[in-house]
Amino acid sequence: MTLRPSAASLTTRRFVKTSMGRALKFVQTLDKPGGPAIMASAEMAGKNGPKKDGEGTLGWLRERNRRRVLEVLREQGQISQAEIARTTGLSRTTISTLVAELKGSGLVNELEPRVPDARGGRPAAQLVLPASQEAVLGIDFGHSHVQVAVADLAHSVLAERRCELDVNHQAIQALDASASMAVEVLEEAHVRRADIVGVGIGIPGPVDHARGTVGSATILPGWLGLRIPQEIEQRLALPVAIENDANLGALAERTWGAGRDCSDFAYIKAATGIGAGLIIDGRLLRGASGTAGEIGHTTLDESGALCYCGNRGCLETVASGPAIVALVGHYNGEPLTLSRVIDLALHGDVRCRRAISDAGREIGVAVAGLCNLINPQRVIIGGLLSGAGELLLQPIRDSIRRHAVLAAAESVDVVAAVFVERAELLGTLALALQRARAA
Ligand SMILES: [Zn+2]
Repeated sequence: MTLRPSAASLTTRRFVKTSMGRALKFVQTLDKPGGPAIMASAEMAGKNGPKKDGEGTLGWLRERNRRRVLEVLREQGQISQAEIARTTGLSRTTISTLVAELKGSGLVNELEPRVPDARGGRPAAQLVLPASQEAVLGIDFGHSHVQVAVADLAHSVLAERRCELDVNHQAIQALDASASMAVEVLEEAHVRRADIVGVGIGIPGPVDHARGTVGSATILPGWLGLRIPQEIEQRLALPVAIENDANLGALAERTWGAGRDCSDFAYIKAATGIGAGLIIDGRLLRGASGTAGEIGHTTLDESGALCYCGNRGCLETVASGPAIVALVGHYNGEPLTLSRVIDLALHGDVRCRRAISDAGREIGVAVAGLCNLINPQRVIIGGLLSGAGELLLQPIRDSIRRHAVLAAAESVDVVAAVFVERAELLGTLALALQRARAA
């Protein structure tokens, strides 16, 4: 399995078939409309008489449920009938009827089970969407790169491309580059623009979802006031959805990685900055204005160093990549990068090990507060710093045990993310698959 990026700028990977596994055994209602709560309100609407466009009628409800089943198949790639029932909150009988109709009209296929399940019994048949020309696009803007990928609805990446660019300050150039790269990957993958059913966009900063703008003047200075979804829609004439990098990392882990079997987890992206993507009850938590998860600006020391956000003693002032690099300083006269510090630590350098361990301890203090608030089942550590492995993870666990309430600390697992370099790019694809409307 090769999920980390190679040096090649353009690759074809069929990652689902090798790494995503066949058994997705958990509820997954990622931030989707049409989940159980909406079904309940639809049923209530039915009791109060039909609304416009047949809303609330039995036919309307059946169509809505049918679309929901197709959406779940699109999000998951492959799933059993029982899992669809759990994910949608609809009864097994309803799902059974809908799936039979969809199979009858050729909109859903059933795969023959090939191996017995863990208890030796016959495994549940897996349902998939039939082969289709339809695809999704993902566009990930990093601070200094743009990545674009196209994937089919079976969750296989068909082509991807990357270029290095000063994204922070050159917003228009980055937007133009992303559009050119989108055309290139579509050509490479032989996908027509008309067959793209959704585009996911990622930016490395908070998103103001009401305006579609960057929610911080200091993180992406060149992007201030730009309505990013509209900018992309103008260039590509395709529907787009946008999320920040930590939320996209959480979506990628939720869909294919360390959060697949988990409906309550915190994904922590620890790199140049530190952010969290929070999955609560299977859904992404954005907060009132889209800044939920800004754990990097948790105050740890009121009289600590001044942070670029304007406060003092934020977590990022002591545990971000630049803070760690500054703490270590030079190594035998060699100026360091975070990657180099991690590498030296893994090779036993005591100063680098201590710097990473201290960063882990501080991250753990902030994560302990998060555990008290949301009681996650799992904390998934991603971002470049997660490459330090247990050197980082163990101090985080120690701090959680020390600072969180016992019940929350005892019930949480701290694990490394599956995706690091491609987390955001895969997250943009997961976002596009999630948002794309079912046929
Ligand atoms: Zn701050």
